[in-house]
Order: sequence, then C-alpha cells, then structure tokens
Amino acid sequence: MRSPLETLLTDDPERAAAFVRNGRCVAFPTETVYGLGADATRDEAVRGIYAAKGRPQDNPLIVHVPDASLVESVAAEVTATARRLLERFSPGPLTVILPRGPAVAASVSAGLTTVGIRVPAHPVARQFLERCGVPVAAPSANRSGRPSPTTWQAVEADLGGRIPCILRGGRSRVGLESTVVDCTGGTAILLRAGSVSLEALRAVVPGVRPAVPGDSLAERSPGTRHPHYAPNARVVVVDRDAAPGPGVAWIGLGPAPDGYALVSEHADAASYAHALFDFFRLCDAEGVTRVECRRVARRGIGRALMDRIDRAAHATEVRSPASEA
Ligand code: AMP
Ligand code: MG
Repeated sequence: MRSPLETLLTDDPERAAAFVRNGRCVAFPTETVYGLGADATRDEAVRGIYAAKGRPQDNPLIVHVPDASLVESVAAEVTATARRLLERFSPGPLTVILPRGPAVAASVSAGLTTVGIRVPAHPVARQFLERCGVPVAAPSANRSGRPSPTTWQAVEADLGGRIPCILRGGRSRVGLESTVVDCTGGTAILLRAGSVSLEALRAVVPGVRPAVPGDSLAERSPGTRHPHYAPNARVVVVDRDAAPGPGVAWIGLGPAPDGYALVSEHADAASYAHALFDFFRLCDAEGVTRVECRRVARRGIGRALMDRIDRAAHATEVRSPASEA
C-alpha cells in the first residue's frame, strides 16, 4: 500500500499551477464542480489522475484551457458548429467534443480519437490555467463513483492524502458538471445535459439534438455507461411525498412535507441542482437510508438535474409513490 501524501491546501493559483508544470495532479475550483487537473500533454501526468480517482481507464477526460483562442491548440480541427457554440457559451459550463490534436496525450481520450474541451468561467480556474501554461485534463475531483465535489472540503474528504494539492475557491456556482456536445459530425449531439440547456444550444445551433439509443452513446461518451453519483442511501424519484420517517431524507422544490429526517427545500430547479451533490454527501455523513428526490420538469436545467438524479437512482430504484402501494 502506498503511504498517504501530504495534501497542500492553498488559495494561490501560482503555487497550485507549479504542481501541474511538474507533472502532478491538482484539484481546482470551477463554476460547474471542482476538477482534478494535470498536464494534458504528458501521458504519465494524465495517468496520475486515473490513479488518484480510481477511475476506469476507458472514461475520457475533458481538457481545460483559459481562453477560447487556445481550443485550436488542443483540437485537430475546430468545426463551424463548435465555433458558434464556443463564441456564445465560452467561457462557461459547455464542453465541445472535437477531433483530438497531436499535442494531447492519448490517455486523455481513453481510446477515442476525439477530445472534450472547455473554457471555464471561474476566475480562479482561469488564473490557475493561465499559470499552468499547458492544456489541463480534468475530470471531477471525486473518488470514482462518488458525487462530484462542489466545495474544496468535499474534495479533501475524497482525495486528501491521495493528491499533492487542492486549490481552494468558493462553492461551485452551478453544482452540476458541464453540458457536453459532440461537434465532430454534421449534426451536433447533446451527450450530457448541463446548465447550458438544450433550449439555449438550439437558439445558436437549431439542429442540436439529444443523444438517442441508436447513437451508441456508450461508445461516444463512455462515462455514461459507468455508475455515477450514487450516495450510500437508496435514491428514489418521487412524484408526491410518500414515506417520511427515521432515516429518510427529502430534496425538491417548495416546502418539504413534515416528518423527514433531513430536508433540502428549493425555490427553483437551479437552486435544487446546485444543492444536489452536497445533499447526497450530507446524507452519507448522516447515515440516511433513503433519499426521496422530487421530480422536476425536464426543461432548462431540469433536464440536467433529472439526468443526475436518474443516474443516482439507477443503481438502486426509480419509483413513484403511486407504484409503491
Ligand atoms: P467528468 O468531468 O468526471 O464528468 O468526466 C468527463 C466526461 O466527459 C466523461 O465521463 C465523458 O462522458 C465526457 N467526455 C470526455 N471526453 C469525451 C470525448 N472525447 N468524447 C465523448 N465524451 C467525452
Ligand atoms: Mg466525474
């Protein structure tokens, strides 16, 4: 067994970037969730990310750059669709999939010939990326299979002792991972919903469509075939409130009904999305046995929110109270 590393906690983007320049991994804040970054041009550095997370080798990483002008240095080709989307949504929570350029280590793409690229909007992320001076491959900074971290404390809980440095920023503004759009073909395909909604994408590129089973999503975006985001508790999607009681938690819109052990109440879907992963972590810490997630409409950020809830419930159970009787 390897001995634990000392994990430096810092607020200084330059100190954190020095680790990346030396081929090591650093966790850093972004507006979506915290990322675990390493030099995307060095195969060994990238392998360190998979090792620290315990991430399956077939799950590709997103490459982060501080400015949209640098997308050209990562992609072999920037398609017209990608250009339009980047112009409108970068910097921000949008990842475009493009043919991989020669500078990027093959391990970033986990066997694919494409690469995911994003320009984060978070000011600390951009300062950090500028100082790294290389494109930075970064998946979410959680142990594989755990909810994505939206605070540095959540990163420390998962990866403390396994990575050399955590760059601290505030709590992630969005709280869900980026929207991923495949821009390699004639039709742009939404591979993963995020806070840049399908409706917003279509306002720029009307032809964007969600992935359908015939697209072989598991091959295009291997991350979608791995179990994700599941807390220890059984996650149940509910349409109305059902079985409050000891050890049962509730999260959703509006005031929570009485009787739940732990509740998280929200005025809108964006606030619900922002709170979800943290709430799952809290439920684990409190020994909750069942989490009831109230369904929301699948539009705007509601599509991304329901995607993450469905995946958390997937490994366990998806049931509405009416069918439980
Ligand atoms: P994470 O940042 O931890 O959510 O992981 C990145 C996710 O982005 C992966 O699970 C994939 O689903 C997606 N992704 C990254 N690179 C590619 C790519 N080249 N093609 C398709 N999807 C990708
Ligand atoms: Mg992840």
